Order: sequence, then C-alpha cells, then structure tokens
Amino acid sequence: MRQLPTPSPAEAADWTHRELGDLAFGDWHDPGMRGGQTSADAALAAFSVVGYAARRNEVWPAARRGSSGLSPYIRHGLLSLPAVWQAVAGGPARDVEKFHDELLWQEYARHLYARLGGATRRSLRFSVPEHDDGPAGPGAGRPWSGEEACLREAREELSTRGWLTNQQRMWLASHWSVRSGLGWREGEDLFFRQLLDGSRAANRLGWQWTIGALTGKQYGFSRWQVEKRAPGLCAACPLERRCPIQQWPPEEPLPPRVSVDPRIRRDDDLATTAGPVQPEQRGRPEAVWLTAESLGDEDPAMLANPDLPAVFVFDEVLLTRLRLAPMRLLFLAECLADLAQRRTLEVWRGDPVAVLADRAVATTFTPVPGWRSRALRVGPVEIHPWRWLRRPHPGPLTSFTAWSRSAASRA
Ligand SMILES: Cc1cc2nc3c(=O)[nH]c(=O)nc-3n(C[C@H](O)[C@H](O)[C@H](O)COP(=O)(O)OP(=O)(O)OC[C@H]3O[C@@H](n4cnc5c(N)ncnc54)[C@H](O)[C@@H]3O)c2cc1C
Repeated sequence: MRQLPTPSPAEAADWTHRELGDLAFGDWHDPGMRGGQTSADAALAAFSVVGYAARRNEVWPAARRGSSGLSPYIRHGLLSLPAVWQAVAGGPARDVEKFHDELLWQEYARHLYARLGGATRRSLRFSVPEHDDGPAGPGAGRPWSGEEACLREAREELSTRGWLTNQQRMWLASHWSVRSGLGWREGEDLFFRQLLDGSRAANRLGWQWTIGALTGKQYGFSRWQVEKRAPGLCAACPLERRCPIQQWPPEEPLPPRVSVDPRIRRDDDLATTAGPVQPEQRGRPEAVWLTAESLGDEDPAMLANPDLPAVFVFDEVLLTRLRLAPMRLLFLAECLADLAQRRTLEVWRGDPVAVLADRAVATTFTPVPGWRSRALRVGPVEIHPWRWLRRPHPGPLTSFTAWSRSAASRA
C-alpha cells in the first residue's frame, strides 16, 4: 500500500495518468463531465425539469435531449436521491412525476442489488444467454462495431464521453443481445467499464430489463426508434438504403423461467440489506472512510465529523480486475481533488482493509456487497445510515411495479 499525493483540480488529469495510469484500461479521453461536488451542484442548479416528460427519450441532435445528465453525480453520492427529488419540487406536475419515477427506478435498482448482491449477475427471472456463446461465438462480431450511424454515435459517446441517454443504452443492449444473440454479461461489463455512472445496481437492472431477463419481454430495437428519437440521423447514415435494422428483430417466444432466487420474493435479513436507521457508535473515530459511493460533502459520516480527515483508497486488486476506462478514474480523481479544497484528505492505493485496519474510522453504510465485506474486516467504530429515498422493505422485488406497490402499502 502507498499513500499518494492529494490531487488538485488543476492537475487531476496528470495526477490520474501518473498515479493510476497502470490501473486504467483503454484510450484516454476527456469526457467533458467534470467530477466533484462543485460540478455536481452546478449541474443540479442548471437542470430544469420543464419539458422532461416529453424530451427525456430524445437522442439526437444532443440539443433535443431533455434528461438531466445527473447520473454520474448520483452514482457517486455527490447528489443523493432525496436531494434530487426535492430539487424539482414546484415544476410542472407531469414532468416532476416522470422525473420522480426515474429516481424510483434508481432506488429499485439499489434495493435489488442491496438484497441480492452478486446474484444480480445471473438472469433474474427468465433464461436469456448470459455468456458470449450465442450464434456469433465468443466475443465475435462485436455487434456495435458496424457503420450504422445510430450505433456508431452511441458507441463513440460511450467510449469518449462515458455517458449515454437511456434510449441509447437500450439500443446498444438490445442490439447486443436481442438481435445478435450475444450473452448480456459481456455487454454489461463493457458498459460498466466506460460509463461514468456505471454501477452494478442500475447497469445490471438496465440490461436485464432490456433483454427480457426480468420481465420475459424483450425490447426490440429497429430503425423505427432512430427515426423517432434521432430524426435526421438516418439520412446521414452510409447504410441508409440498406439499413441492417430496418425490420424489428424476430419475435422470440417467451423465454423459459429460471428457478428464481427466493430472496427476490422476500427479504429475511432486512437489517443487512438496509443498514442502520440511526448512527451506530462504538468508539471515537479519528478519520472518515470514503468510498466511490460516498464522495459528496453531504455524506452523513463526513457531515457528522466535520473536523476529521477523510481517507479514500484506490483498491488495486479490484481495479486491476475491473479494467475501468481512464475516464472513470479521472472522474474519481476530480471528485477527490474538489473535496480536498475543503477538507483534509488522504488518498491511498492498495488494499482498503490493510490501509484502514488499525484506524478507528467513521463511515456511511453502503448497500453494495463490496462495502459490506470490507466493512466487516475494517470494523468501523461509527456507521451512519444510507440516505435512502424509500427505506427497503422485505416484500417482492420481482418487478418495479411489485416493488413500488409493496413500498406504498407499507408507507
Ligand atoms: C442497459 C442499461 C444500462 C444502464 N446502466 C446504468 C448505470 O450503470 N448507472 C446508472 O445510473 N443508470 C444506468 N441505466 C439507467 C439510465 O439509463 C441512466 O440512469 C440514465 O440514462 C442517466 O441519465 P440522466 O441522469 O440524464 O437520467 P434522467 O432521465 O435525468 O433521470 C434522473 C436520474 O434517475 C435515475 N434513472 C433514470 N432512468 C433510470 C433507469 N432506467 N434505471 C435506473 N435509474 C434511472 C438516474 O439516477 C438518473 O440520473 C442503464 C439503463 C440501461 C437500459
């Protein structure tokens, strides 16, 4: 393990190259979206929910888009779901309702992952190919590599900006699995490595939903959506007159059901899924442990301990395995550099458990399996509650509707 110099905003890119370059995988691009609380606050202040319902699904040209672009900040805890929920209060009812609904999808994804953890890597309810052993063979034919303008735009945005609209994510995921028959897990990994908002929770849910692993119904992608959501793009496409996606992909019969993990129906260990309701304290902390989910100024453990230094550890073993795009590491470095303007910050690379083993730390409960397993070994002396939008319930997570109904009946 090694303590790194603390990054500063002006040299975050050089710092990332120098200190983390060997952990990054792929080409270096400047994604445009900047990491850090200052940028998160500015993005939230600049977002207007007016017109969101009508324009959320628009793709191209970029000026037509109505979605917020807040996802990287939400993913890293710079903006909490309750804060974003509140921020649009008073807007037009239809837009606010639609926007709130999307925040609930994020919350549903988090509940699913908090409860099922690694089991979300398997098709949850219906059997769809998971590995690249479909008709095209392992990894062959990379279905996004063609000249279709719609796929090319999306592929380039993914690899150079690290961000896509929800529609583009559905297009790429559907094209990968539904039309090309490739296993979804490789596609999900490709997204995860490059998306600035890449989270196992929302990414796996998005893939499972698009390709029918959750509902049994596949989302078919064809030229029709491109003409509707990106008018004019087909006219600029070299394949305009021989469009390979002119027709819908062939309708498949309902895939067979998998034997479902019983935890999707009922949670018998809600305390582990949801974490504490009140701060738990069993000692005096000397530092605050931050993770990639808790990089915001309003992180409960940081708020409760304003004078303590914060500690962030780049987990070498994990990052070597994940092979993240440089943009993702740059985003994290920018978050840390921004935070270091207001707070004493230690940045390390190595094993978080080894770095934190002998230190009394405060931290915020995080509903992901990686945090739980490390927290068990680190033994924080103070654990703060996660900022849920809806507290997890023990009822069914078999669908968004079942989850919402169960949540509403308990409210
Ligand atoms: C295949 C696939 C993969 C995805 N991978 C991710 C991922 O790794 N990380 C991620 O945060 N989202 C993921 N999503 C969900 C969604 O596409 C993004 O959250 C959204 O496009 C982010 O853009 P935005 O901030 O402008 O969203 P907005 O439309 O402005 O919505 C506001 C917020 O609501 C949440 N949200 C919106 N739509 C969804 C949704 N369908 N599911 C869950 N949360 C949603 C996000 O936190 C988002 O920032 C994925 C969707 C699909 C179909």
